[in-house]
Amino acid sequence: MKTFTTVNELQIALRKHQQVGEKVAFIPTMGALHEGHLSLIEIGKKNAEITVASIFVNPTQFNNPDDLKKYPRMLETDKALLESKHCDYLFAPTVEEIYPKNLNTIVNIDLNELEKPMEGEFRPGHFEGMLQVVKRLLDIVNPDYLIMGQKDFQQFTIVAYMIETLNLPVELIVAPTLREKDGLAMSSRNMRLTPKMRKISPVIYKELMKAKKAIKDQNIHSISEEAIDTLSKAGLKPEYFRICDGKTLKQIESPQNHPNIVACVAAWAEDVRLIDNMVLKVSKK
Ligand code: AMP
Repeated sequence: MKTFTTVNELQIALRKHQQVGEKVAFIPTMGALHEGHLSLIEIGKKNAEITVASIFVNPTQFNNPDDLKKYPRMLETDKALLESKHCDYLFAPTVEEIYPKNLNTIVNIDLNELEKPMEGEFRPGHFEGMLQVVKRLLDIVNPDYLIMGQKDFQQFTIVAYMIETLNLPVELIVAPTLREKDGLAMSSRNMRLTPKMRKISPVIYKELMKAKKAIKDQNIHSISEEAIDTLSKAGLKPEYFRICDGKTLKQIESPQNHPNIVACVAAWAEDVRLIDNMVLKVSKK
């Protein structure tokens, strides 16, 4: 695997492949890689001749400076993991390389309120920053496939919307969430959980599973309220447990007339913020 830190060097390397018609899959990450990230690399390898991963802890998507400071960074370990999956290229740029002073990288599109609820409510500015970095990285890499995880449901929904709105020439592939044996969604933040919180946290997955069963015959609001209650009693501090339309992300009142339904949750485990989601209903089409 070759590692590049500058746009120029990466583009020279990629051009050679793109000129001979080789397809490129791109997996943006913030590093501290785990099996979940590596499953995206595997999907990239299956879909394209060349797989590019990026590691960039994007400052513009952190509303909380402390979260940015505490975000785990372990480039050498990450490189070894990517090598083990035969990733072809790693792009690990500096902040200056991604955001040069003379370039306006802000993405100015109306997101139809997709950015308003859930993460948007509790992390103001997060999605503006996320879109800014994803668009900038897509412009740099120019991939055929962009691989993202379902773990960040609102994130991939907003990226899909941007791709459609701007007619970007890239296909988004959404990969399933990889979990630990006890159901906890793999996350770079999990390594910061105390042993006590690590033991408690799988309750998030249990509540999502419960919601999946309950949606058939229980009132939507009472499912959410019970989940919030259970998470709180277990020792977490939930921010939301929201059952929403899988396309508009608007909270639903009843499952009727919604072909896709997803439950999304965010909760603090002491000072670690965890998010997860589960598709409760998906249309066959
Ligand atoms: P991050 O480094 O957390 O920004 O994540 C980079 C990519 O990996 C995003 O597209 C995430 O949705 C995806 N991802 C994170 N955790 C998981 C997981 N447990 N399973 C699958 N994909 C994941």
